[in-house]
Amino acid sequence: MDASVLNYTVNDNVASFLNKNQKLYIGGKWVDTSSSKTFDVEDPATGKKLSSCAAGNSNDIDLAVKAAREAFDSGRWTGIPANERGKIIWKIGDLIDNHAEELAQLESLDNGKPVAVAGAADVPLSSDIFRYMAGWATKIEGETIPISVPYTPGAQYHSYTVKEPVGVVGQIIPWNFPLLMAAWKIAPALAAGCTIVLKPAEQTPLSALRLIEIIHDSGILPDGVLNLVTGLGEDAGAPLASHPHVDKVAFTGSTEVGKLITKAAAGNLKKVSLELGGKSPTIIFPDADIDAAIAGAASAIFFNHGQCCCAGSRLFAHEKVFDKVTEGISKIADQIKVGPGMDTSTEMGPLVSDEQFQKVSGYIESGKSEGGEVVAGGKYDNSSGGHFVHPTVFAKTNADMTLVKEEIFGPVVCAQPFSDENLEKIANEANNTTFGLAASVWTKNISVAHKLASKIRAGTVWINCHNIFDASLPFGGFKESGWGREMGHEVLKNYTEVKAVTVNL
Ligand code: ADP
Repeated sequence: MDASVLNYTVNDNVASFLNKNQKLYIGGKWVDTSSSKTFDVEDPATGKKLSSCAAGNSNDIDLAVKAAREAFDSGRWTGIPANERGKIIWKIGDLIDNHAEELAQLESLDNGKPVAVAGAADVPLSSDIFRYMAGWATKIEGETIPISVPYTPGAQYHSYTVKEPVGVVGQIIPWNFPLLMAAWKIAPALAAGCTIVLKPAEQTPLSALRLIEIIHDSGILPDGVLNLVTGLGEDAGAPLASHPHVDKVAFTGSTEVGKLITKAAAGNLKKVSLELGGKSPTIIFPDADIDAAIAGAASAIFFNHGQCCCAGSRLFAHEKVFDKVTEGISKIADQIKVGPGMDTSTEMGPLVSDEQFQKVSGYIESGKSEGGEVVAGGKYDNSSGGHFVHPTVFAKTNADMTLVKEEIFGPVVCAQPFSDENLEKIANEANNTTFGLAASVWTKNISVAHKLASKIRAGTVWINCHNIFDASLPFGGFKESGWGREMGHEVLKNYTEVKAVTVNL
């Protein structure tokens, strides 16, 4: 790497990592891709090349699956007592914390997010999920089940269930929280006893590569348990999703690609879990603590530049408070400092890629042409080579506008007033989307809050808060927002099979 692409002083480990020729990690070894091809990873704040990664293809996926299959079938991972596996998973959490500064810097350089945010959220959430899942390794239990079989009168049986690891899992992750998404995937799969082939997003493979390098250097995981193939979605992701010796594929990304994954998985009917897009409503009642609701609704859409599947991108505010709310959010939007993620004063970094810049700026233009009123932002600028979009608030939007229907995945909120407090009607508006990932409700009326929570068709409902995540809370979607849940003990269902055993006494 040409050091001049880095405008900021970075941790020594980051500098030497970026200077390396990145490889694939298969069977406990760093190997070259059989394609001999590479792809560039860019700094979204400048558009300059940051690193060059191996462009894995179906041959590499095949080798990685073989390594994971061999590690699984030989019992190299499941054969380790659960408490020892738990200790190893816990140590991965410690390794992340010990390398927190460099991982936060890599995440900021690669994804564009502010380095302070990566340090305060992405990195500690990542170590936390390993520690949470470490505890589950010893608690994946079955049940004893009393049975009474009508066609064998007088017979006595002892029946029980065991939960076994599903086997080799392919994990395909997106670019919005690269390290955290790797952690959400790897930690529960290891706890359940699975072996893994991970395919990070081509835009942001660096933190996953470095995490696996750190784990490799520590020597704590047996060879073949965790494999990593970098590459493009069609070249490396698709063969992983369709591979006949992969037992399960776990995907986080767009709904469009999620649908392709399910088709690809059909060949051997591998299990599929999907965490997909969203168009989450933020609903503000007039009795809410309005200042808190304004700050919360702004953060709901502007956190991570709106590049969150659960971003509060549809804002419903009661007409009595609509102007105050939109003015408040607009004021916050206008004050957010947009700049390179590695600048410690930056509050919102660039979007991850030119593709996302074009997509989000296109939505802003379509909102304007469909009659939406821009009350904050509406500006975007890539003249410096970086992909900067300013936090944008649209008022006068309605459910028929493209901007309101489709997932933008950028810092753009569409505000609509509601006039009465008929919960059925509000819930219908909130549910008027093909997605069902999350929602937030802002009110002091506890009865309204709980009633609305029960009517909203989404996997997460936050009340007087938004974007609250914890390793122990399940997260995932209704409708086209996905299948299955990430985190909490719910995620273990993605990585286990239930076996019923019956003994004739
Ligand atoms: P986004 O649209 O937000 O960029 P994607 O859903 O395209 O997100 O990408 C998420 C992940 O899915 C990435 O790792 C990407 O490489 C991968 N991917 C993209 N296309 C495919 C595909 N056809 N099959 C499998 N994985 C894919």
